[in-house]
Amino acid sequence: MAPTAPAVEFSTTLSSTPVPAERRAEILAAPGFGTTFTDHMVTAVWTPDAGWHDAGLRPYAPLSLDPATAVLHYAQSIFEGLKAYRHDDDSIWAFRPEANAARFQRSAARMALPELPVEAFVESIDLLVGADAGWVPGGGETSLYLRPFMFASEVFLGVRPANHVTYGLIASPAGAYFASGVKPVSIWLSAEYTRAAPGGTGAAKCAGNYAASLVAQQEAIANGCDQVCFLDALERKWVEELGGMNLYFVRADGSITTPSLTGTILEGVTRDSIITLAGDLHHKVEERPVSIDEWRDGVASGEITEVFACGTAAVVTPLGRLAWNGGELHMGDEPGPVTQEIRTALLDLQYGRAEDKHAWMRRL
Ligand code: PMP
Repeated sequence: MAPTAPAVEFSTTLSSTPVPAERRAEILAAPGFGTTFTDHMVTAVWTPDAGWHDAGLRPYAPLSLDPATAVLHYAQSIFEGLKAYRHDDDSIWAFRPEANAARFQRSAARMALPELPVEAFVESIDLLVGADAGWVPGGGETSLYLRPFMFASEVFLGVRPANHVTYGLIASPAGAYFASGVKPVSIWLSAEYTRAAPGGTGAAKCAGNYAASLVAQQEAIANGCDQVCFLDALERKWVEELGGMNLYFVRADGSITTPSLTGTILEGVTRDSIITLAGDLHHKVEERPVSIDEWRDGVASGEITEVFACGTAAVVTPLGRLAWNGGELHMGDEPGPVTQEIRTALLDLQYGRAEDKHAWMRRL
């Protein structure tokens, strides 16, 4: 049997200056995204000798970093994103946190960071949401966004895996992504930039991937689009994913296709869940390479009837338009029926309105 990592023990120190309830209510009435944070955070430290230690729930506070902290120079850093949902009976639930924990371990392995045990990842969420339950908004498609992260906190300018690593978990109340109804988004097909190459870090949720995508995102905005679609780096032929979401194509026969995992695509928890959910809804699901020509020709011929993107933040988002240097393609101004069906099925599960057949929800 493989040796099991020793359990990580968490201490608890509650804030003596929590945000007053009235102010919190104001924030929760219009939370936006990623600008306000709850009263607490979790941190833990790893060193080669002591393993994970100094783990605890503490008051939310700035981190103080020496200017020579390795992460600031070499970006040895990973993160995750998941949500806690308030159900109608006021209970609070997370969606497949173990799947995020497992991906966090895969990202850590790729970035030469220590793996955090799945149990410790999940316990940190239990602890933070337990202490800050009053920060989970209710109603509509609101949630408490959870952001686990890990970075090289060693003060050292040598280029090697850090011998001092910090884990953190913070939480931020999030409003509905589409506040005024689901609207198809427009996508810029990046010809110049790629997101990931074979042997690279595309399948890891590491900070540098997002830094590298920003200039392509700027190009998208400059061309009147909302987000970028990346093609593979070798042939510039295969559709990979958006900057922060995976893709699905709906066919005239009701089947759905998503680009297969090649090692250069982030393995989305939403993507994976849709494979199962769409099967439950009797759609045939295929994972295989999809070329940009298949996308263009398929929409033109009517063989592809809908295209949607999926991810934790926006759940399921219809694509309305694909634009590139010299052309564009229209997929529709309204969300298609299969996109809507899958979106509703996922949200009903996350918000406790549907039976949790696959035991994906964890009560916090
Ligand atoms: N691709 C990328 C590049 C992402 O950053 C994300 C968001 N984590 C996704 C896909 C969707 O993943 P998930 O469904 O786990 O949120």
